[in-house]
Amino acid sequence: MNSIETAACAFREMGCDVLCNEPMKLHTSFKIGGCADLYVTANTKEQLACALDYIKKNDIPLMFVGNGTNMLVSDKGIRGVVLRLGGEFCDISLVDDTTIRCGAGALLVAACRFALEHSLTGLEFAYGIPGSVGGAAFMNAGAYGGETKDVALCCECLTPNGEFITVENKDCDFAYRHSRFSDSGELVTEVTFKLEKGNAEEIKAQMEDIMGRRKDKQPIELPSAGSVFKRPEGYFAGALIQECDLKGCTIGGAQVSTKHSGFIVNIGDATCSDVLDLVAHIQDTVLREKGVQLECEIRAVGDGV
Ligand SMILES: Cc1cc2nc3c(=O)[nH]c(=O)nc-3n(C[C@H](O)[C@H](O)[C@H](O)COP(=O)(O)OP(=O)(O)OC[C@H]3O[C@@H](n4cnc5c(N)ncnc54)[C@H](O)[C@@H]3O)c2cc1C
Repeated sequence: MNSIETAACAFREMGCDVLCNEPMKLHTSFKIGGCADLYVTANTKEQLACALDYIKKNDIPLMFVGNGTNMLVSDKGIRGVVLRLGGEFCDISLVDDTTIRCGAGALLVAACRFALEHSLTGLEFAYGIPGSVGGAAFMNAGAYGGETKDVALCCECLTPNGEFITVENKDCDFAYRHSRFSDSGELVTEVTFKLEKGNAEEIKAQMEDIMGRRKDKQPIELPSAGSVFKRPEGYFAGALIQECDLKGCTIGGAQVSTKHSGFIVNIGDATCSDVLDLVAHIQDTVLREKGVQLECEIRAVGDGV
């Protein structure tokens, strides 16, 4: 048995769900990406702690994944373990009248619906962001005037040393599409949101309005990873790209969306290389013609990228 098969057996004995040689294109909203050696789902804190201990002791490369909606995975895949949170990490519960606790594996959209069911306002901005709660904390996801940092009271995370700690909002280093988790190697396991009592009808209307605006403006019918570039100071990436006549520009199966120039869509069998080539072409053109350096918001991960 090779070391990957041995590791797969060990994770299964811990109770984790394990997929070997798993195509990442099945787990990313871009529908792009080669195989992960091991795609492991930890369903309980105990499984998670045991799995991380094994990974550390055996020096196995590790990558966390949420819902795969901000990732561009290499065509060569990902070596080692891709770790995802399932089971009890998808629970959402009420802590008190205005506070909810969400496992990091829960979808942000589920957290928004839970808040609505309890007439709690504050999370409406996040309705339609297709990531997990953990991914939202990691990215400080935001939209329509709101950001995760505005409502996250604290995050529970597992440190690389295997310790569960609680990080208060002020210590999360939240900034535009960035948090301390972007650099710390900590795995977010839970986020507590502080919301306010609101009117369910009004909350629902706002969520529907936001979803409607997304459907009108964003190419959500095609695979993508959302906005490719961060918003440059004083500009909008989509407008700059459009002004450079790059709307519809296509390399292989990757295309600058004809609906929203800030998105790259997979119009059929796009590879990671297609997307990276298109990203480089956009960056070069916008820098040359507009003098603005566009920085990627999507995270290119895996072998050789
Ligand atoms: C159609 C579409 C629309 C989008 N609209 C928006 C938008 O309006 N606003 C916005 O901000 N984003 C948007 N996004 C991007 C994306 O949904 C967000 O960035 C989201 O927060 C990513 O969450 P995820 O769970 O999918 O993370 P993933 O893509 O799985 O991971 C992203 C990064 O977070 C890390 N990570 C994930 N989970 C954890 C965890 N528990 N602990 C530590 N690290 C973790 C991963 O290692 C990776 O580096 C959009 C994407 C799509 C496809």
